[in-house]
Amino acid sequence: MRLVRPNDPGYDADRRVWNAMHDRRPALIAHCDSVADVVAAVRLAQDQNLEIAVRGGGHSMPGFSTVDDGIVIALDGLRAITVDPARRVLVAEGGALLGDVDRAAQEHGMVVPAGVISHTGVAGLTLGGGVGRLMRRFGLTIDSLLAAEVVTAAGDVVTATETENPDLFWALRGGGGNFGVVTKFTYRTHELTTIPVLACFHSLDDAPRVLARAQETIADPATPRELLWTSFFRKGHPLPWMPPALVGTPGLMTVIEWSGDVDEGMKLLGEMRDELAPIAATVDPVPFLTLQTAGDEMFRHGLHTYVKAGFTAALTPALVAELIERGRLIGSEISQIELLAQGGAIADVATDATAYPHRTADWLVNIPASWVDPADGDSELAWVRASYAAVRPHLDGTSYSNFMDADEASDEQTAYGSTLRRLQRVKAQWDPANVFHLNQNVKPA
Ligand SMILES: Cc1cc2nc3c(=O)[nH]c(=O)nc-3n(C[C@H](O)[C@H](O)[C@H](O)COP(=O)(O)OP(=O)(O)OC[C@H]3O[C@@H](n4cnc5c(N)ncnc54)[C@H](O)[C@@H]3O)c2cc1C
Repeated sequence: MRLVRPNDPGYDADRRVWNAMHDRRPALIAHCDSVADVVAAVRLAQDQNLEIAVRGGGHSMPGFSTVDDGIVIALDGLRAITVDPARRVLVAEGGALLGDVDRAAQEHGMVVPAGVISHTGVAGLTLGGGVGRLMRRFGLTIDSLLAAEVVTAAGDVVTATETENPDLFWALRGGGGNFGVVTKFTYRTHELTTIPVLACFHSLDDAPRVLARAQETIADPATPRELLWTSFFRKGHPLPWMPPALVGTPGLMTVIEWSGDVDEGMKLLGEMRDELAPIAATVDPVPFLTLQTAGDEMFRHGLHTYVKAGFTAALTPALVAELIERGRLIGSEISQIELLAQGGAIADVATDATAYPHRTADWLVNIPASWVDPADGDSELAWVRASYAAVRPHLDGTSYSNFMDADEASDEQTAYGSTLRRLQRVKAQWDPANVFHLNQNVKPA
């Protein structure tokens, strides 16, 4: 274990997390290279009465992976990946990033369904549920999780699977970092190498028509789960297919992806482009690794970010009307309102089968603002808050724990809904003193 303290060289770079909003000064950063290091760090923290922040990929938007005056248990020395192609199993250490997993899996033509930005941490993303471009086809990341190795608050190393410590395994799938430090995740892999993608841009005036089509498509049980629909209210970006006149103009960007047969997908997406009649569009078969890294630079380290989100059963005309008004007021080039289609394999799993309770909603509405200049903070925060207030009456009252910010940290009910009571009981069993509380915190029953 390598310990870094405030006066040590490199401390300032070392204490940084992805979201520049959280400029905190830990008393100690413990870089762990082994499970034994993690056990030692958890014990050291409790002996010294230091508040614990666990840092996987460091992408927590509320900054849960850093802490003033406490200890950061940093897992950047635990990024190894092993793949067993014959058994279709991939094991990722607890500090791995999505890109580590994607590259190792693609060597065998396989994927683990996870998020869309490759520098995100596997740990935080998985423990919250894990939404991404393959979720309608293969489910959330937790739906491919087979086992986890966990260092508990007592400093024990335990395994959790469907049959070994099943309550803990249930809680880890959606209950966040509440139950210990996960040092290994074992996933089932799936075959996939190329994804046909239709990306297109419409004016805000056209948004009701496009989103009515989106709603009809996702509500139709006959829609194949290979089809993923995401629409974004955002300003036009300088992409190769975007006419320069649209760059910087608020509009509706829609990305429809197909995670099945490539020829079938290209044909279908070509037809959809013709039907949607966008101002600008491109349809391409994209290698999985290219797609998974396409947004890395735009959502780079060091941005300031603030987020609110919620689920809804349908994109009703009233909700769409509110979204258009909020979309018109987007400030930063990188801020957006994302409409992420759910359903498909997500809804195959019963609502109480894992700790992730949001299985039945058809849409996840995510409102992340991101900006470069700290001076823009007040207006960006105000835009997110006002946008959320405007759409909230149309949402179901719950939110995705990985898309919530710190001012909702005490709102367990919002994050965990119908699974909260059981989570509180599991928390009481594995972490009765709430040692691991820098997360969307579940209070022990
Ligand atoms: C640019 C960006 C893109 C994103 N894209 C997606 C996406 O496509 N899909 C999606 O679902 N989410 C996405 N998210 C949200 C993301 O899932 C959460 O921010 C998640 O918490 C990040 O995990 P991390 O390990 O990088 O974060 P960290 O900040 O390291 O940790 C997040 C939380 O998990 C805990 N934790 C971290 N490691 C461990 C561990 N090994 N054991 C136990 N607890 C641990 C931390 O203590 C903290 O509470 C994105 C976030 C960002 C910033």
